[in-house]
Amino acid sequence: MSDYLYEVDKECALCSQSFRVTKVKSRLIKIKQDSDFCTYYKDVNPYYYSIWVCPHCGYAAVDTQFDSLVPAAKEKLTKFLTERQVNVNFCGNRTREQAIATYKLAIFYSEMLDSSASKLGGLYLKLAWLYREAGYTEQEQAALSKAVEHYEQALFRERLPLGSMTEVTLTFLVGDLFRRTGQVEKAIPYFNKILSNPQAKAERNIYNLAREVWQEIRDLRKQQELEAVAES
Ligand SMILES: [Zn+2]
Repeated sequence: MSDYLYEVDKECALCSQSFRVTKVKSRLIKIKQDSDFCTYYKDVNPYYYSIWVCPHCGYAAVDTQFDSLVPAAKEKLTKFLTERQVNVNFCGNRTREQAIATYKLAIFYSEMLDSSASKLGGLYLKLAWLYREAGYTEQEQAALSKAVEHYEQALFRERLPLGSMTEVTLTFLVGDLFRRTGQVEKAIPYFNKILSNPQAKAERNIYNLAREVWQEIRDLRKQQELEAVAES
């Protein structure tokens, strides 16, 4: 096991059996961050270990939500899993492909349980980041499209802030994900919303990031206009 990982015993919230979960030590060195908050660390990628998967029953969820199973969800999952004998073991070190598989499992259960749009958005976004790391552009785009679909719903329907994610941050993220998936026309109103909101200035990092990305969009558009002129 790498120096950056450690294991703890965990009791499954669904089947009550015990298994080992791998955790990442908190003192990681950040290298850089993309505009959609995908963060790169030296030595280990903590996203690989965010999903806990029980090897006994097959239940999987984000670590922070693993224990929060309401009785109705428990019943639905138990019924589904006992009929199937899901055979998965993602304990110990994970490869990127295994990490991707854990996100797919967590997404599958979350969709089955009609989880909130923000939770699904978060799962799809992290899945997209793993595809980005792998250089799988097509899969990354598909996952980002799903993420923005859910996050846009969350913006209108859910009570904000979502944990540490404020309305300004979420507005920015929706805009940025539309931009990243080539839906620039849909992205623009979200950037305008931030840049025309005096209160958004209080969230300096996001405000500045929105300005940078907005400038990139404008430069790109000018470039495209020039190219169109040159071709005509
Ligand atoms: Zn279990």
